[in-house]
Amino acid sequence: MMQKTPYRGRFAPSPTGPLHAGSLVAALASWLDARAHGGSWLLRIEDVDTPRCVPGADAVIVRQLAACGLLADEPPLWQSTRGTAYAQALSTLLDGGLAYPCGCTRKDIEAAWAARGKLRPRFGELVYPGTCRCGLRGKPQRAVRLRADAVVDWHDRRLGPQRQDVQRDVGDFVLRRADGLWAYQLAVVVDDAAQGITDVVRGEDLADNTARQIVLQQALGLPRPRYLHTPLVRGADGYKLSKQNSVAALDLADPVATLQAAAAVLGLPRLLATSACIWLAQAVPAWGERRSPMTRGGAGGEGGPNVR
Ligand code: GLU
Repeated sequence: MMQKTPYRGRFAPSPTGPLHAGSLVAALASWLDARAHGGSWLLRIEDVDTPRCVPGADAVIVRQLAACGLLADEPPLWQSTRGTAYAQALSTLLDGGLAYPCGCTRKDIEAAWAARGKLRPRFGELVYPGTCRCGLRGKPQRAVRLRADAVVDWHDRRLGPQRQDVQRDVGDFVLRRADGLWAYQLAVVVDDAAQGITDVVRGEDLADNTARQIVLQQALGLPRPRYLHTPLVRGADGYKLSKQNSVAALDLADPVATLQAAAAVLGLPRLLATSACIWLAQAVPAWGERRSPMTRGGAGGEGGPNVR
């Protein structure tokens, strides 16, 4: 009989500040999903984008998670220690002709689109028009990009079937940035594989990155995890909570109430408990028993994962 790969999930915060109510939803969902599957739950500190990292925020996050009873099964992995693995992956891609150096500035990209009589912005980012695909033509190298020609079909356990034409919607994307830093897409794909992650559970704001990550997994011959993107918590202004719009850090004076608020976003029922650990012990079967898939658009009547 074929052995099923044991479930391994992760929470991968960027240490750009303390966790807030929105990030706790993703942490809790990934922890519950791992436990409901009898799996392991790992923590990865995504500190590659050093200018955005806040010193000490990683320790604060670990403490916040611990106060809520969310303890990782293995020591955390810091992406800042993983440069060798990223460099190896990048040279594999360069050697295979799947990645190429790029000398374009933002101005160059805008000019290339203007010359074609159109501008292709996408969520504030420009679709890369492929200018350096055939060589730098004398320009100094700035970034390294992946040749991304795929239309990717993937399944999200909550959002259902997804499709993205990566070349049309994003273009060849950056693996190593012009400032020399590793791009999130490369780091996340290399580390999910290195940590043996079978299930990615994270906030819906990241769903749009999934097709790019799948293209990269395919290029590197790495396995594709299952994906579940959780509902976002929105502030009073309707925007998603983020560390950038300086939302209040989690209230840890009453961890049960804090967990309960995160659980409500995930459609879990109210649970009575006197400590975070007791609350979590009740939440695991509640998560596993949900039958209706979570719907889009925030809290209220949403179920847990129904796809295993
Ligand atoms: N580091 C990312 C964040 O804090 C999460 C990345 C991921 O889960 O893939 O938003």
